[in-house]
Amino acid sequence: MAMWQIKGIAKNITNPIIASYSHKSNILNWIKPKYIKETKKINEVYRFASISMLEHVNTPYPIIYNLPEEGMLDINDGDILKLCPDGTVKRVFNASSTQNVLFVTEACNSQCIMCPQPQTPLDYSDEVLEILSCIPKKSLREICISGGEPTVGIKIFEIMETLKRYTYVEPIILTNGRKFNNKSFTQSFIDRAPFNTVYAIPLYSSIPEVHDRIVGVSGAFRETINGIYNLSAFRVPIEIRIVLTSKNVFNLTELANFIGWNLPMAVHVALMGMEVCGRAYDNIEDVWIEPKSYMQELIEATKILDYRDIPVSIYNLPLCLLPYEIRKYSTFSISQWKQGFIPECQSCTMRDECNGIFTSSKKIPDGIHAI
Ligand code: SF4
Repeated sequence: MAMWQIKGIAKNITNPIIASYSHKSNILNWIKPKYIKETKKINEVYRFASISMLEHVNTPYPIIYNLPEEGMLDINDGDILKLCPDGTVKRVFNASSTQNVLFVTEACNSQCIMCPQPQTPLDYSDEVLEILSCIPKKSLREICISGGEPTVGIKIFEIMETLKRYTYVEPIILTNGRKFNNKSFTQSFIDRAPFNTVYAIPLYSSIPEVHDRIVGVSGAFRETINGIYNLSAFRVPIEIRIVLTSKNVFNLTELANFIGWNLPMAVHVALMGMEVCGRAYDNIEDVWIEPKSYMQELIEATKILDYRDIPVSIYNLPLCLLPYEIRKYSTFSISQWKQGFIPECQSCTMRDECNGIFTSSKKIPDGIHAI
């Protein structure tokens, strides 16, 4: 999982330390200009960890020093940092962002052909719980629970129960929905999750075989649809996400109609441009389609959903590629840390309202032009 990070030299760090950053206390002022206070109090000696721009330090505390000044300036009070033994400082929670993502696991029970995430058995449940333990109970609002497939995370129930203790939390979980095919799992999950959790579930086609082929699992369509119905029995908010690939854009209007007829309980539908990395890049010949070539389908699908009074948004596509009539559906969707622009954008009047492109994507769509 890629995230904002800087690198220095680690000292007295044998295992990763997750801690909330603060520069208010003066306990370690001698390691100026900034330090992080470790919230997990192992003992007095290792009660605090530090980060520093200094080129040389002499301290018994865990520290990463020799960090670049421009990187240090990006760190703010309340950010949760991960200090790694190799000297990397990763920001795992940005206190000033509404786009924080908690990656529960890299494991997944599907194998989507355009998945941008790595797929390994790595589980980050304990790390997620540690991150949450660093966030004050009243300060957490928007938070995205993702993976891999978060519902296969080893401690997903504990994570959802923990989130429930945050007074103002507004969670969204990105799940393929297949585990909710099981009614008792659904009941257990709902019992533990904050009541306002949004379940964002991908549906790629109204044709089961097409959806299953994209997901790489036979029967996935049936499980996901059952999962959506099982969840909706609890009246929880469900969002449908449709990634636009060469495999499914031809069927987009049918899918919009299918959602209108069969899933009218959806609180939102997101039509999403592709992030070409990970498996999407491995399968680029199979999945890539230039956005400019599916605009007619996108217009029709957007209008069908809007006509049905289902809130609809377009994610991850540059404004200049969208016909004027559907630009109003475009929403900021690319996380700040992977949002980028190209030289053509410099003179664009819409830059402040535009998603731009994924810096993580290995494919830049054709036709980007200043408007
Ligand atoms: S030129 Fe760049 S900033 Fe302007 S709409 Fe296109 S992608 Fe967005």
